[in-house]
Amino acid sequence: MMTQNNIDTSDPVHKFNALNLPVHRASTLVFESTEAFLSRKSQLYDGYSYGLYGTPTTRALEDQVAQIEGGLRSILLPSGLAALTHTLLTLVQSGDQVLVADCVYGPVREFCASTLGRLGVTVDFLPAGADSIAPFLTSKTRIVVLESPGSFTMEIQDIATICAEAHRREVRVMLDNTWGFGNASMFQHGVDIVCTALSKYASGHSDVCMGSITVSDDALYRKLKKFVSGVGSGVSSDDAYLVSRGLSTLEIRLREHQIRGLELARWLRARTEVERVINPADPEDPYHERYDKYFTGGNGLVSFVLKCNALPAIARMLDGFKYFKIGASWGGTSSLVALADLSGIRSLEQFPKETYVLRIHIGLEPLEALYADLDAGFGRFNNAP
Ligand SMILES: *Cc1c(COP(=O)(O)O)cnc(C)c1O
Repeated sequence: MMTQNNIDTSDPVHKFNALNLPVHRASTLVFESTEAFLSRKSQLYDGYSYGLYGTPTTRALEDQVAQIEGGLRSILLPSGLAALTHTLLTLVQSGDQVLVADCVYGPVREFCASTLGRLGVTVDFLPAGADSIAPFLTSKTRIVVLESPGSFTMEIQDIATICAEAHRREVRVMLDNTWGFGNASMFQHGVDIVCTALSKYASGHSDVCMGSITVSDDALYRKLKKFVSGVGSGVSSDDAYLVSRGLSTLEIRLREHQIRGLELARWLRARTEVERVINPADPEDPYHERYDKYFTGGNGLVSFVLKCNALPAIARMLDGFKYFKIGASWGGTSSLVALADLSGIRSLEQFPKETYVLRIHIGLEPLEALYADLDAGFGRFNNAP
């Protein structure tokens, strides 16, 4: 029996046709013969040999993710961060140079500086809104790490141009597509490896961490799968089930989050306290043209910078919210707010000390209550001593 996600959930042994993807829990698998046991490693890429390396549940989710990303094969990792770090560890070696967009997810920046640095890899940053990597390419450049739109500040790199430049030099491009998951086909623009935090909109309910690596090339899939399984990384079928369940409402949730995100951007822009509003799906955003080129939709993330950056006043606003909980890892049904000091999270662009960017994830709670909550928050901000 096929579900709406094209997963075959039929159980031919028990004739139990569950509507949903079954959860297969296993470490041990047993083999029909000595020969099958001895040759089990040949099952790594497509079959089953040990729970860690793949179960019918995790393989089914990998197929769903590959389809959504527009790629050929996906590999699941225990977090979005793990997807990004495992990809880098597979592909770089001592002496290589890695080019990293200045707006990448903070822990990726830290991983590059600490672990890649320790391994003898040089890490250089690209402007967050880079339209070319030509000035940064060297004979040692191995891989380019993009993230569009970038974390917190949501700049969009000119992905297609950068991929073309990289490929002329046999340099690979990987892209963190967490923001665009479900609304982008990055392989069409030349990206070689797409990494996504499924912890966000894919799972959609803030209750599971998972990441995926997707590629459009079988040889690259095998190389990555070999490394990932070789270091002992994998995911549980229970977690894969949760993500798969989230995917069945992805499109509808994203559509609603996008409507709410655009409305919120307009509302924030009308506030006199706000200096700048960031949401590339909004036609007034400076990166909207690139958004149109690379994405078919947006989501519920909106960042903004206030005219007054006094932390005590910002804290009064945030600490008193009823609906907008202070937290990271967006993409669930709940509204969240997070903040970051831009002067501490970028290498190239210099921001004055204590330039706070606030990032809202607008959830699916009643809208009237959310706007009342925001309005009261600005009241606390304005009345701060
Ligand atoms: C959240 C996030 C990650 C990390 O995902 P985890 O599953 O939390 O490790 C990576 N990149 C981006 C852009 C993210 O927002």
